[in-house]
Amino acid sequence: MSTLPDESTHSSCNHNHGNGAAHSQCTHHKESGESCAHHDRPLQQVKNIIAIASGKGGVGKSTFAVNLAITLAQTGAKVGLIDADLYGPSIPTMFGLLHDKPEVVGKNLVPLEKYGVKLMSIGFLVDADTALVWRGPMLSSAIKQFISEVEWKELDYLIFDLPPGTGDIQLTIAQTIPLTGVVMVTTPQDVAIADVTKALGMFRKVNVPVLGLVENMSHYELPDGTKDYIFGSHGGEKFAKIQGIPFLGSIPIDRAVREGSDSGDPCILTHPDSATSKAIKQAATEVTKRISISNAG
Ligand code: ADP
Repeated sequence: MSTLPDESTHSSCNHNHGNGAAHSQCTHHKESGESCAHHDRPLQQVKNIIAIASGKGGVGKSTFAVNLAITLAQTGAKVGLIDADLYGPSIPTMFGLLHDKPEVVGKNLVPLEKYGVKLMSIGFLVDADTALVWRGPMLSSAIKQFISEVEWKELDYLIFDLPPGTGDIQLTIAQTIPLTGVVMVTTPQDVAIADVTKALGMFRKVNVPVLGLVENMSHYELPDGTKDYIFGSHGGEKFAKIQGIPFLGSIPIDRAVREGSDSGDPCILTHPDSATSKAIKQAATEVTKRISISNAG
């Protein structure tokens, strides 16, 4: 795998494989007798592919993706996590892997592994201080390489931590691979809800099943046990109800979450019995339930 995206890889192929489903209809490479690994259904050894999305940045999407991945791995599942936030990769910091590089075998990368989770991030490949100035096709190409040229092997869950919003990366993923579903993350605040409405609309438009919504930073618990609804009260829950999507739970604001994210020791491991970790585990259980329902449907 090249560590820089090859803009030409798919530039001549505008086939829209819509959710990874229509590869059998692709004669583009068959006619030329050329074989193209990109046109085989990607990630065949992965049972469930979940995207974690948000409308706004900073609402805790990566935090939830990291703690969800570890929670699932703790149940004995084989789990991978792709940091698809190419402009602002957080996974290397949140896993304490700022100086590690993936091994290259042939033309493929071997994902790093920590806390039982296989990991890939642009942050493992480019210098942390280097600003990415890639355009849409280059971003899409890098994501396709994360999908096709990383040795994920067999996985029960592959989680994509998406960038915020509704850009090229989200569309590439939605149209390249068969997503089991997307989990939306928001804070209860009106401005976050306004943005998650747009993101939800995009996933609906490209027919990605919506597994549900997690409300992060729902409240802060004061020493006397009362709750301070810093970002407003139950905004996520109300939004889920209005949109007719499952509400997967509320996660409080907790210093240990922020500290764990920054130090590379996720709170689910350092404070497994805290109210926040329990809320995350509960939300993870809801995600797996929704996946079972989605797979059965
Ligand atoms: P996003 O992926 O949506 O941009 P992050 O997961 O990077 O957001 O979170 C943004 C910041 O907020 C990080 O510093 C993270 O540690 C912190 N954070 C996220 N969720 C919580 C929480 N429940 N309590 C305290 N801090 C949080």
